Amino acid sequence: MDRMDKSIMSLVNKSTILDIIREKSPIYRAEISRITNLSIPTVMKITDSLISKGLVIEGEIAKSTGGKPPRLLSFAGDSMYIIGIDIGTTNINVILMDLDANMLSSYQQPTSAERHFNEVVAQVVYCIDKIIATSKIDIAQILGIGIGMPGVISPESGKILLSPAFGWKDKDLLKELRQHFNLPMRINNVTKSMAMGELYFGLGHNINNYICVNLGYGIGSAIVINHRIYNGDSGASGELGHVIVEQNGPKCSCGNYGCLEAVASANAISKQAQAAIKSGAVSMISSMVQGDLKKIDAKIIFEAAAAGDPLANTILHQAIVYLGSAIGSAINFIDPAIIILEGGVSRAGDLLLSPLIEEVNHHVMPVKKCDIVISKLGIYCASIGAATFLLDELIKKGGEMIR
Ligand SMILES: [Zn+2]
Repeated sequence: MDRMDKSIMSLVNKSTILDIIREKSPIYRAEISRITNLSIPTVMKITDSLISKGLVIEGEIAKSTGGKPPRLLSFAGDSMYIIGIDIGTTNINVILMDLDANMLSSYQQPTSAERHFNEVVAQVVYCIDKIIATSKIDIAQILGIGIGMPGVISPESGKILLSPAFGWKDKDLLKELRQHFNLPMRINNVTKSMAMGELYFGLGHNINNYICVNLGYGIGSAIVINHRIYNGDSGASGELGHVIVEQNGPKCSCGNYGCLEAVASANAISKQAQAAIKSGAVSMISSMVQGDLKKIDAKIIFEAAAAGDPLANTILHQAIVYLGSAIGSAINFIDPAIIILEGGVSRAGDLLLSPLIEEVNHHVMPVKKCDIVISKLGIYCASIGAATFLLDELIKKGGEMIR
């Protein structure tokens, strides 16, 4: 083995051992040696270095039958903290969590209505300052800041190449934030962030292949293959919202026509309800928003549908038919073990899930078995996931601090 191979092996060993301790805490060194096939001295050398970094702690002494008693090792999840921000079209959610995704504090504010770049930058700076100030954590204990937002983000440069939901093109958010914060920062697409959260802390844990489908203001997806997020060649993978489901359909924010997002997203169904009521359709939705049609959102449409409103039911049925066809095609194409539904619309629960599963089953090849489930990570899923990208990097680097 040349020197290069040795240093790669050493990094892989460090990373593997750190991840095993994180997953299986508390654990004995002998057990780590057995799982990894690494010698006890190698395991000791690596665990000693992880202990010196503060990422692993030595715990209680086990009962021994003689000789030096072994000590249990545990992952020090509270040794560092990560800030996670979800820049959504409606709200900006920021959290501070430890390395086990325990949330110490959270803060939310509405995203500026025009979503101008400079305004949003100022809001993000304010939110980060606020979370640091209220949590009273020593800044040296913060591993970094993870950001998630809708759009195509370059995996190399971190530039926002295109965000139709925000109307942004070629924006360098990290460059702006570096003028305010001297911390490592990473930015990723919001649905890829959710998928990363699921991978470590959610329903994707221990599942090799899955797809997260984010049903919110827009529609996005993230593909996980062999426990890694598939980025694609330019970072634009998983754009399920821009799969064409209606030839010559309505215009989409991406410039195309008949995209799934243009006919089945929360934004699309809200617009459909507004248009129908404006042109005279009778619906309880009108009274639910006290006549202010701008207040119609997906939640209200689901509530009206549950109460038996025919207009709401017609709109949702059509949206679910489109969603079922796109998700069914994705299952046929990728062969995931599960589909995890994310985002505001997924909180409609069984009102969405049962008819969607039925629709998807019309399209999926009979040999495939793929469960459709709703995320359990809650409204901070994207913030947790955005932060988890930094944890993932810390583990991949075997506990070396990231920059
Ligand atoms: Zn589109």
